Amino acid sequence: MRQPLVAGNWKMNGSTETIKNLLEGIKQSIDTVSGAEVVVCPPYVYLPGVQQQLAGTAVSLGSQNISEHEAGAYTGEISASMLLEFRCRYAIVGHSERRTLFGESDSRVAAKYAAARAAGIVPVLCLGEILEERERGVTEDVVARQLDAVVALEGIEALADGVIAYEPVWAIGTGKTASPDQAQEVHAFIRGRIAQQCSATAEKVRILYGGSVKGANAPDLFSMPDIDGGLIGGASLDADEFVSICRAAC
Ligand code: PEP
Repeated sequence: MRQPLVAGNWKMNGSTETIKNLLEGIKQSIDTVSGAEVVVCPPYVYLPGVQQQLAGTAVSLGSQNISEHEAGAYTGEISASMLLEFRCRYAIVGHSERRTLFGESDSRVAAKYAAARAAGIVPVLCLGEILEERERGVTEDVVARQLDAVVALEGIEALADGVIAYEPVWAIGTGKTASPDQAQEVHAFIRGRIAQQCSATAEKVRILYGGSVKGANAPDLFSMPDIDGGLIGGASLDADEFVSICRAAC
């Protein structure tokens, strides 16, 4: 039985003040969420403050990115050991914005997956096709290529140490959600591809859906058999909306 997971990716949003208010709101009603794991991923500079505010709650901390290097002359990067100091349990790797805006290749994303895993941080591996790829009918090829880069570096069983997030790029921040059937089809493909090499890993790995998830559409998405929760962008900045998505995952 896979425990559902909902992770909020705050991206480059917020200030000390708005984040304090957001966390207050989440803390007020998070007790109504039972059975799902809840994670928030703030911008790096807010990690220490968020860690303090989350103390004593069941909400975990995650990072939006992680360096593939341990330390050294990598200006602007943040290492796994730094994230561990602030008890980051999760690290998003290969978010589509990192892939498209910052040129992260499949092999670099795989190296980030490996760095997180080696440090005992759970990597949340984002996979997903752009609209043009969906329209060309190559969604499965794209997702398979992105997944296989990690498998080639780390081996199939390494996927059981992480979480996968299927995020069709055309649905991210656009208000266009994949239908539950569209999402389930790709989730089932991902799980099936993993099962071809290791059925235990396929059974264990959680596959989240991401792309314009809201309180209103989360119940239908999360009711699909291969959708184990969500990676939430915009709606994670609203405490009530985020908590209602978390509730839908229980
Ligand atoms: C995301 O950025 O991972 C995401 C899913 O964003 P949104 O929920 O805003 O589409």
